Amino acid sequence: MTFEVLTIFPDFFRGPFEHGIVARARAAGLLDIRVHDLRNWTHDRHRTVDDRPFGGGEGMLMKPEPVFEAVESIWPERGPNRRVVLLSAQGRLFDQTTARRYASLDGLLLICGRYEGVDERVAEHLADEEISIGDYVLSGGELAAAVLIDVVARLLPGVLGNEASAVNESFSGKETLGILDCPQYTRPAEFRGWKVPEVLLSGHHEEIRRWRREAALEKTRRNRPDLLAKILPEQEFVGQEAGKHNE
Ligand code: SAM
Repeated sequence: MTFEVLTIFPDFFRGPFEHGIVARARAAGLLDIRVHDLRNWTHDRHRTVDDRPFGGGEGMLMKPEPVFEAVESIWPERGPNRRVVLLSAQGRLFDQTTARRYASLDGLLLICGRYEGVDERVAEHLADEEISIGDYVLSGGELAAAVLIDVVARLLPGVLGNEASAVNESFSGKETLGILDCPQYTRPAEFRGWKVPEVLLSGHHEEIRRWRREAALEKTRRNRPDLLAKILPEQEFVGQEAGKHNE
């Protein structure tokens, strides 16, 4: 899969993709990340990419012309397996389901906004989707693009050493039903008087599986009750779990 990133700060991406899983996947040719400097599609001496908003107001906006020209020259043809995504605080919320959909594509072209945002004609007539990574305002789309690429990259075939590790994580898979992952522990079995739950040391796979489900449910109830509500009404879900233990 190829990620094309359109930004006025190409150097921003020197760091994030040069470590860990994404760096290894790039080196192995499992994915390609191409960063494009938006200013290459300006035509004035100052390489201007911004202008004042019509109607007045604070700050500057990114002009439409260089953005349109850049996207149309990076991808002269679009097709169903390529999506142009505008990173924007006003977009639909990015989540693991969207990430899985993106991971099945051939290419994503990510437009990073700056200043007070991007001329709305980019969202209306150029981007296929307008995506936000959370209900807060970043100073630019670069961090959002890096987050999105990281999330999608680890879902691509062959990127994670153990394919199962993406399946049973938070928000994914049959085992976790889209709730949070369970708490995990490593050695030492006792640290500063805090002991690892006995069952994890027992070697009883079925009991460990049950404990993990219970612990994941408990953590989700505590930290993200909204996720439980999304899957099933909570009473029904708890009832189902209780039923399992009586099997
Ligand atoms: N005036 C805009 C608003 O209130 O919605 C915020 C503009 S923000 C300072 C500049 C750029 O950062 C945006 O164009 C977008 O590309 C990016 N950005 C900010 N928050 C974001 C978020 N939650 N998700 C994705 N991109 C975001």
